[in-house]
Amino acid sequence: MIKQKICVIGNGLTGLTTALVLGKLNLNVHLIAAPDKKKRKDIRTTAISESNYKSLIDFVGKKYSKIFFQSKEIDLYKEHSSEIKHFMNLSNKDKNLMFLFQNEILKKIIQKKINTYKNLKIYYKKVRKIDVEKNKVLFANKNFSYDAIFVCTGSKSEIIQNIFGDRFIERKADEIAFTSIVNHNSNILNAKQFFLKEGPMAILPLNKNKFSLVWSVSSRFKNKNSAPIIIKKLKEILKFKSNFTISKVDCFPISFKFRSNFNKKNILLLGEGSYNVHPVAGQGFNLILRDIFYLNSKINEYITNGIQIRDSLFIDEYLKQRKPENLLFGLGINFVNNFFKFNKITEPIKKIILKDINKFNVLKDISLRVSNKGIF
Ligand SMILES: Cc1cc2nc3c(=O)[nH]c(=O)nc-3n(C[C@H](O)[C@H](O)[C@H](O)COP(=O)(O)OP(=O)(O)OC[C@H]3O[C@@H](n4cnc5c(N)ncnc54)[C@H](O)[C@@H]3O)c2cc1C
Repeated sequence: MIKQKICVIGNGLTGLTTALVLGKLNLNVHLIAAPDKKKRKDIRTTAISESNYKSLIDFVGKKYSKIFFQSKEIDLYKEHSSEIKHFMNLSNKDKNLMFLFQNEILKKIIQKKINTYKNLKIYYKKVRKIDVEKNKVLFANKNFSYDAIFVCTGSKSEIIQNIFGDRFIERKADEIAFTSIVNHNSNILNAKQFFLKEGPMAILPLNKNKFSLVWSVSSRFKNKNSAPIIIKKLKEILKFKSNFTISKVDCFPISFKFRSNFNKKNILLLGEGSYNVHPVAGQGFNLILRDIFYLNSKINEYITNGIQIRDSLFIDEYLKQRKPENLLFGLGINFVNNFFKFNKITEPIKKIILKDINKFNVLKDISLRVSNKGIF
């Protein structure tokens, strides 16, 4: 029987993971990677939940578990008028809470792994057009037809605009995120989140002497020399006793964007091109992973029952299951971000609310459950 054929366009974390996961099914997979070799290096670190880690490592291979740094706890702090107060500790008994990896390292490993799949081919070609009616991808001198096409080309892609238009639920945050790697001698083993006056800063350990930071601040900071500002703030909040160094600082725009259309016929948008959420809760790729694992199980169901995926309802089922959860998550994260935003008038009320919040175990259990496995 001729294998069904699918195409994954885009070689960011979403495209590579989708190709890796769907490549395990009895399908022919084409992965279309961006041809430009001079692309900007992604210095970000990503934190994923335990349940996502367990599913992902089955595909990536257990021998690569060492690239994930495992954090057992996260401590939350809030900056009030003149002090920084610890207000919550989240831990899951003896289990690990977060699995942290450097994006470029995981991408390289996935790429190496998918190069070993006989049913998966990577093409470094520029897509000229996607023919929605015929389910075809057109290149300069070649065309391919597919049973399904997954577009994973990120938030700034022209392909997406051309096919899916410009309708969004959007909230411009007027914020940017600074990221950098910090080397130190302070033995930091657990993640920390500081809700600072300027905006939330996440400390994501990569080993005991190295962490990645993500600091979301107002876009007023964009043209400022960010390194001295970050160094000053780190000294203040972590009270480093010895020297530390920070790598080149990278900067990402932040917005909450949720597309009205995720699909056209058998073409489905995945990843940051379909929605992006504020990085404050470190949930963006976690949601995307749940999307990919759901797709995998649905498509597998159809293939094992001998149903052609081009005639199946897998996209409808995906949209029904995943879209509401992703929207709810995005809105929830916006709420959290707004709550912690510095506001002179509401600061005293927040201080009262946060004072004893660490005692509310039910609230902690709910946050742990939702961030590990999602809402539904
Ligand atoms: C500062 C920051 C910190 C974050 N931290 C976390 C975290 O801790 N936990 C978490 O879960 N999430 C986190 N996220 C979210 C996470 O980083 C993103 O969800 C994830 O990187 C999205 O990847 P993507 O592949 O969808 O998009 P992108 O990374 O934008 O990748 C798109 C890819 O498509 C390629 N491409 C574009 N056009 C074409 C084309 N025509 N043909 C072929 N290829 C093409 C591009 O070259 C690129 O490689 C964070 C986000 C930010 C901004």
